[in-house]
Amino acid sequence: MAFGRGLVVGHLVTLRRFVRTFMVGAGRTWQRRGGGPQRVDFFQSPERGLEPVIEQTDETEGIFTVEYPDERLKVHERFRVLPVLVYDDADGGIRCTSCNICAKVCPPQCIWMTHAQGPDGNPVPVPEDFFIDMDVCMNCGLCAEYCPFDAIKMDQNFELANYERHQSHIFSMQDLLVSSGYYAETHPEAWMSADEQSERAKASKKKNQRLQKALSSSGDVPRLD
Ligand code: SF4
Ligand code: SF4
Repeated sequence: MAFGRGLVVGHLVTLRRFVRTFMVGAGRTWQRRGGGPQRVDFFQSPERGLEPVIEQTDETEGIFTVEYPDERLKVHERFRVLPVLVYDDADGGIRCTSCNICAKVCPPQCIWMTHAQGPDGNPVPVPEDFFIDMDVCMNCGLCAEYCPFDAIKMDQNFELANYERHQSHIFSMQDLLVSSGYYAETHPEAWMSADEQSERAKASKKKNQRLQKALSSSGDVPRLD
């Protein structure tokens, strides 16, 4: 009898926890406790997967499970995964000058690039291509710290898995390029900071001077500034 009683009590505890996982949201629909505005969706409605990002705050009650990928926690601005190369929305110009500093400071040596060439065959300060081996990158952010042209930044995208790792995990310049608008959107605090604003202005001037010098030594070119 004692065995049977334990079984019943155990089931009741499980049932109580199941029921307490949910609460009625605004008198209309069931929501998971603490799970933000996510509805309990037993029938897989078409809106599934479009739920907003949820966040655990001081007011969140109890412990809850984030049902990734249907919902996800907010990614914080300084969260960093892989580097990206920034081009300016204003003129479409890539900021990188192919100076190779990021490749030199990268601890596991997973960055490499090729220089573009001017009409006379001499290198000009623009990368022809740029590669990062995402399986080797250890997400340290040193490349972004050391870049003198504000050209390489750490991105927050962590959904990088796929079914092939030999070719597709070597990111080329086309995979790495993001617009300055994208960076401003994902890093609003850094973008608006006085430090980054002055850094951007200095880097842009420095880059134009380098480009001007390289191109004028290889022939008659228009001034960039
Ligand atoms: S340090 Fe910056 S400018 Fe130099 S190659 Fe790397 S990304 Fe380009
Ligand atoms: S984040 Fe670190 S490991 Fe990754 S490419 Fe930059 S310097 Fe190299």
